[in-house]
Amino acid sequence: MAVKHIPTGVVHHEKKDGTTGCGVDTKKNNDHWGDSQQKITCDKNGCKD
Ligand SMILES: [Zn+2]
Repeated sequence: MAVKHIPTGVVHHEKKDGTTGCGVDTKKNNDHWGDSQQKITCDKNGCKD
């Protein structure tokens, strides 16, 4: 799964618990995040392979 941080346009890996691979809780600012089919662009550990 991928999730897009709308204010920055960065696409992150999304884990089943609602956090990104790099450790951001997407439930805290739910309106900043949207499901995405795009390629992950976050380069932090946990998001990039
Ligand atoms: Zn990330």
